[in-house]
Amino acid sequence: MPNITIGTITIPYTIEERPRRQHPAIQIDAQKRVTVLLPPDYGLKEIEPLLHRKARWILKHLNSTQPLPSVPLKEFVTGEEFLLRGQLLRMKVQRQDKPPQVILEGRQILVTVPYIPSPQQPILVRELLTTWYQQEAQCLLPERIDLYSPIVGAAPARLKIAEYKSRWGFCRDDGLIALNWRIVQAPLSVIDYVIVHELTHRRYPHHRQTFWEAVRVILSDFETRKQWLRDHGAELGW
Ligand SMILES: [Zn+2]
Repeated sequence: MPNITIGTITIPYTIEERPRRQHPAIQIDAQKRVTVLLPPDYGLKEIEPLLHRKARWILKHLNSTQPLPSVPLKEFVTGEEFLLRGQLLRMKVQRQDKPPQVILEGRQILVTVPYIPSPQQPILVRELLTTWYQQEAQCLLPERIDLYSPIVGAAPARLKIAEYKSRWGFCRDDGLIALNWRIVQAPLSVIDYVIVHELTHRRYPHHRQTFWEAVRVILSDFETRKQWLRDHGAELGW
């Protein structure tokens, strides 16, 4: 059985070819067995980089007690789909002899990369997409904070947008509100839930009933929005 070493942990896994799959996926079953599901003709050399990219997800779920759905892995190649504000966008990679860039054209994310050795291309595409999503987050999230601050009756002392391993946002005692840029992939209703949740913490720095009641006054359907994150959160973590 092949295995992969992540940090100090060695994890065995099995490989299964699935003729009808278009993209690879990792499955962790209730017995904590890791299976990599591959489309036909998938390069075996690509498996390890894929597992390393999902290392955080794998470790988290090997330690969790709940059975999990499989999470499709991104390869950062033409044809893959990404979310922005809940809208499905198709990604196209274009190799051109000009500076790398990411442009949104209708429902297509066009990523231009220079001619580089092909194993490096997905790494660069991922970096470019990350920067692009971070810019989208820097644009959208402060807008939603400004929209909901008067409604909640609280504003952040400071807003920070960054990447967090297992949190969509948090509110600190000193008034800092931090948001995970990855939340911009979620539908706007879900983004707004995270914004209202953190703003409400400025008034209620806990998760007691009074906190949830205050959230419900503003978003009566907040439970549905919260559930979306439970169901789809892992998909935003590429
Ligand atoms: Zn909270």
